[in-house]
Amino acid sequence: MDKLDQLLKECEALAFDLNFEVAKKWKADSPDRMIVGYLPIYVPREIMHAAKALPVGIMGAGDRKQIIKGDAYYQSYICHLPRGIIEMALDKNLNDFDGFLFPAICDCVRNLSGMFKLSKKGNFQRYFDYPQNFDPKIGGTFYKQEMEKIIDDMFKVNGVKVTVDAINKAIGLYNINRRLIEAIYKIRQEFPWRLSAVDTYYVLRAGLAIPVEQHNKILQQVIDVISIERGEPMDNIRVVISGSFCEQPPIGMIKSIEMAGCYIVEDDLMLGSRWIQGDIDDTTANPLETLALAYINQSTFSSAYYDVGNPKGKRLVKLAEACNADGVIFCAASFCDPALLDRPEMQKECDAAGLAHINFQFHENTGQFKVIKEQAGTFSDSIKLWA
Ligand code: SF4
Repeated sequence: MDKLDQLLKECEALAFDLNFEVAKKWKADSPDRMIVGYLPIYVPREIMHAAKALPVGIMGAGDRKQIIKGDAYYQSYICHLPRGIIEMALDKNLNDFDGFLFPAICDCVRNLSGMFKLSKKGNFQRYFDYPQNFDPKIGGTFYKQEMEKIIDDMFKVNGVKVTVDAINKAIGLYNINRRLIEAIYKIRQEFPWRLSAVDTYYVLRAGLAIPVEQHNKILQQVIDVISIERGEPMDNIRVVISGSFCEQPPIGMIKSIEMAGCYIVEDDLMLGSRWIQGDIDDTTANPLETLALAYINQSTFSSAYYDVGNPKGKRLVKLAEACNADGVIFCAASFCDPALLDRPEMQKECDAAGLAHINFQFHENTGQFKVIKEQAGTFSDSIKLWA
């Protein structure tokens, strides 16, 4: 097994460990450490790092857990992710977590935060609202106050006072993290055969379960390997995946799209880790304000994000053009309201720009990919033959 294979194997294990063993071990090393779980998509992980908390992304149970109790908590006509997460909580997978953040992305996540509260999971369960007003004086101030509430929640658990220096240090570490991730995407956009989309996914998702310092080392090692030619170019089309920002598609589905002749050169799978575009200033005297401004001015686009002045459809087309994509695959979780409600508008923008697109839906535990492979294969062939 070569060095990259070894790394990828480690990342895969980290990414899908429903018992969060690395996080638990990290926490056990010091009595003032804690684990704060967060749901998709984005939270400012910097403030948790500054409070000696390990932010751990909870992206659902996927196909690794049978849902029995979770179904009793939710009606049948919603996505799968919240059922899997409540099942994990009831099965004690999340028992070592000290608190939970529920970003305000949809009603399902809002309801899940209530269920965690009622079930008394963790010491705090915070529903984390994003600003809808992009005036820094209004939305920025609001967002800063939301972050202060989380800091207060964490202080009540471990008594660690968050300092300006600690937040700035964390901002610096996450700047490196974002830069390294973008470097991997850049290399893949030029040489997509060097690292598959599935392997890229493992590498990014592993970062949700380990300290950022450790993830930065892994990312650098991956870059060192894929900066040198490896693999063989294929006659594939280039696609952007859009709509998979929350509930995650099964690995078999990502593999099927690739095997059907599509290089996935952009996606929104691990969007939280790529949410802020570019560096955040890590030298200011008021880092909370800096983080709030970064959210207002440097956020990427998503269906779970209110950006009426900067339409998502146009941003999607721009993204596809920037990475020289041949088409877009709209790939949303079944019953995902934010993604599915936005899709028609986004498709209209693709049509206006002459950008080919297809769509399908999935559950995180979908097990059959034949139809998806056929659809993606036909999409790929039609672009190769007639575009
Ligand atoms: S998959 Fe969609 S509907 Fe389900 S929790 Fe996530 S954003 Fe909400």
